[in-house]
Amino acid sequence: MNLALQIERYLPRQLLELVEDISREANQLGQKAYLVGGVVRDLLLGCSNFDLDLVIEGDAIELAQQVAKIRQIKLIIHSRFGTAKLNCGDFTLDMATARGETYAKPGALPTVTPGTLNNDLSRRDFSINAMAISLMPSNYGELLDPYEGRSDLEHRFIRVLHPKSFSDDATRILRAIRYEQRLGFELELQTAQLLKQDIPMLDTVSGDRIRHELELILKERHPEYVIKRLGELGVLQRINSALKGDGWIAEKFDKARLLSKPIQLSSLYICLLIYPLHERENKHLIRRLNMPTRLAQVLCDTLQLKSQLHLLDKSSIKKSEIYYLLHEYDPLAIQANVMASESSAACSNLKLFLTRLRYVKTSLNGERLKRLGIPAGPELGKILQILHKAKLDGRIKTRAEEEKLALSLKS
Ligand code: ATP
Repeated sequence: MNLALQIERYLPRQLLELVEDISREANQLGQKAYLVGGVVRDLLLGCSNFDLDLVIEGDAIELAQQVAKIRQIKLIIHSRFGTAKLNCGDFTLDMATARGETYAKPGALPTVTPGTLNNDLSRRDFSINAMAISLMPSNYGELLDPYEGRSDLEHRFIRVLHPKSFSDDATRILRAIRYEQRLGFELELQTAQLLKQDIPMLDTVSGDRIRHELELILKERHPEYVIKRLGELGVLQRINSALKGDGWIAEKFDKARLLSKPIQLSSLYICLLIYPLHERENKHLIRRLNMPTRLAQVLCDTLQLKSQLHLLDKSSIKKSEIYYLLHEYDPLAIQANVMASESSAACSNLKLFLTRLRYVKTSLNGERLKRLGIPAGPELGKILQILHKAKLDGRIKTRAEEEKLALSLKS
């Protein structure tokens, strides 16, 4: 099968020209270049994928340097891994020297050796991701499909390449379900059996790698489908026994998608995922996934605020009380509670804080109070806070009113 027409049709011009240059330069250097992985799968499915991965039989770094020189484009090199990233306008293109892998023990990072395209495809996760397209001028566009990925695409199957695949690398369990749900495919029968049998192998995988796959899931268009299925299979519970993928999550993810800024969405999803957990279970998950400090803090804040929500569950509460209850929480944790809380009064108070109260400032600051004759020290701090509360509650509005109140408080 030849996919030259699909390449031309689905790749934007900038990327197409880059691919053509790589093809020509590889040929001149006596190297062989192939498109691999997701882009091949998606070209066969007739969808765009601008994340191009190339495998080179030869020296990917030498080839990338040559192409970067000719096109005058930016290049990032990782010599240790034999990989290079070319920057092409809005797109990037990853090039890697073909390699083989062996696993010293389950879950460990693989030992990598230089190899052929076939070695490279044989270390991949599923048949649908183990296809390549030749970029050699002699057979440009030809599909190379040693594991019958195309047939699996047609039959809509996710299939591992060998029976030890999930035990070698149990992150593939999370990947299998991500593709299954994204593409609306089924796990092939033996793959489904192996997946279920190897769920305990998740214990052999580092927190960072599981977190990375979880982040990829949360970048999907409908992560709730993946989460639900992982819950049904008992995968989530293997990561943390308290995690659930029930309808509550689906409803809240939907709401988050509607209301939040896209840039915050993944973090917000994680906050919602842990929302039903107790603080102890949350700490356990943070340790298991080796969460970065900022994210861990947001998750702890989310649950701490959840335990304080009853204080906000009334419409009569003063604005200054709302402010001082919330001002030390991360705004993302507050946003998560807006999505998750069932109390409409608490929700409107949280929103009031996020949209208005957190921006309320007094006109006077410490320096100006000192100029009014109030000495530096604890008294000044107290007066500033009284002014701030009065402003939040609408008891003072103008700078003159602030000054009057400040002077009346001076001892
Ligand atoms: P998409 O970005 O659409 O989710 P992709 O196929 O580009 O799909 P990546 O996570 O970027 O996915 O991985 C690139 C390729 O690397 C995959 O197509 C797959 O062949 C291979 N790969 C990634 N992770 C693994 C893994 N754990 N085991 C084996 N192969 C993997």
